[in-house]
Amino acid sequence: AKRTGGNRACFYNEIERDSRSHERIRLEAELKRAMLRDEFTIHFQPKIDCRVMKVVGAEVLVRWDHPERGLLSPGSFIDVAEESDLITRLGDRVLELACRQGRAWLDTGLSMPLAVNVSIRQLEKPGFTKRVLDILDMTGFPAGLLQLEVTETVAMAGPERVSEAARPLLEAGITFAIDDFGTGYSSLALLQRLPFETFKIDRSFISGVASDQHSRSIVQTILAMAKSLDYKVVAEGVETLEQQAFLMENGCAIAQGFLFARPMPADHFDAWAKAFRDRSGASRQAGASAR
Ligand code: C2E
Ligand code: MG
Ligand code: MG
Ligand code: MG
Repeated sequence: AKRTGGNRACFYNEIERDSRSHERIRLEAELKRAMLRDEFTIHFQPKIDCRVMKVVGAEVLVRWDHPERGLLSPGSFIDVAEESDLITRLGDRVLELACRQGRAWLDTGLSMPLAVNVSIRQLEKPGFTKRVLDILDMTGFPAGLLQLEVTETVAMAGPERVSEAARPLLEAGITFAIDDFGTGYSSLALLQRLPFETFKIDRSFISGVASDQHSRSIVQTILAMAKSLDYKVVAEGVETLEQQAFLMENGCAIAQGFLFARPMPADHFDAWAKAFRDRSGASRQAGASAR
């Protein structure tokens, strides 16, 4: 009876695995079609300097405008895109959309630094560097306003490759950030060999700072390390005033999160930024006249 049970479990596992891979294959085909039909768009989430309550940049986040299922977040498709070659085309597309929007903003007098996520599959693909430079060229977006975000685990998986691909981009003026910092297991020795300017502290630590000492200590340690090694830091996933206050007290001024704004399309971003300027201008004035 035991053996039958074992076999049955195994049988069901196979069915499950089978339908999972079916699901992947279907999704992959759908993603390809979505590329052709131009269904990918980008949203922007502001980064705020909390000392002066000003927008200092935005992160670009891909969305799939699915004809039936509506707007989809990358969590539901980026892994499949990364496992196939699609991520290269998708990545190029996102970068192009971002640079075009960045250029359009520049033309209205708004100089907005943009941070675009890139995956290891994109970075290690020959020609990545050239394509990035070509897209900047084609769109007229200045390299100095572009940052590329690479996750910590990815950076650790191939520090040599990352450094090599990054060199000409750095020379052009592009900067790099380590995304989701704290979730990998990077050694400081390795980190120092990478050409990063900024750490983005992972949301999982930020969400704990108000309630648990462990998260507080981790965040404080990251901030102290960043300071002494002269890195910039961004806190991601800031949702409450308490979290913001803790970060400010510990020297982390740049924050990104739902407390300020969710990722949004470019036209919403314009309206939001204007309202944010007015609001923080008004509260600065109120502060000044109270003094
Ligand atoms: P990420 O780069 O760490 O981006 C931050 C994610 O946290 C975004 O999710 C954002 O919407 C979410 N977030 C921001 N603030 C808050 C907050 O206060 N609370 C909570 N709960 N969440 C917050 P999103 O847009 O779903 O993206 C998920 C991940 O997908 C990104 O994580 C990034 O790794 C990847 N991704 C997004 N766009 C691209 C892209 O164009 N290319 C590549 N390769 N990966 C991308
Ligand atoms: Mg990111
Ligand atoms: Mg992140
Ligand atoms: Mg993340």
